[in-house]
Formats: sequence, C-alpha cells, structure tokens
Amino acid sequence: MVVRMRHTRAHTANRRSHHALKAHALIKCECGAARVSHRACPVCGRYNGRVAIDLVAKTAARLAKRNKREGSKSETQSAQKAK
Ligand SMILES: [Zn+2]
Repeated sequence: MVVRMRHTRAHTANRRSHHALKAHALIKCECGAARVSHRACPVCGRYNGRVAIDLVAKTAARLAKRNKREGSKSETQSAQKAK
C-alpha cells in the first residue's frame, strides 16, 4: 500500500456513515401475507391484481426435480447396499 493511499480514520468513518442498510419496505398483499413492494407475492404469486407467477406449476416442477434427484440417490444407495 502506497503511503499516499492512506486515509485518516475520520475520512474512512465519514465514507462509512452512508453504508447503513435499510429495511425492505414490506406491504400487505391482497392474500394477507407481507411482501416486498414492487415484487410479486411469494405466497400467492400475484402482482398488481394479476397472477404473475404460476406457483402451482413452479411447486410441481420443484417437487418433480427433487423426487428425481432423491430417487437416483436412493437407487445408488440401494445399489451400494447390494454390494
Ligand atoms: Zn399474496
């Protein structure tokens, strides 16, 4: 580190005075759940009155993926037990 690059503690503290995190602006969805404003609801998938995310299809796809993965894992475990 070059000496010229060094800042005083006050300089560093002044810069960091703007680094505080703000809480997300949570609003109540029409389904009653709390959600981040300007984002689709993670509970019902609605945004601005319409369904933005098809959560039924999404959950089904996730479950199918998990079943496929765990199915192959249990197959390898049973194969190892057979040996
Ligand atoms: Zn909702």
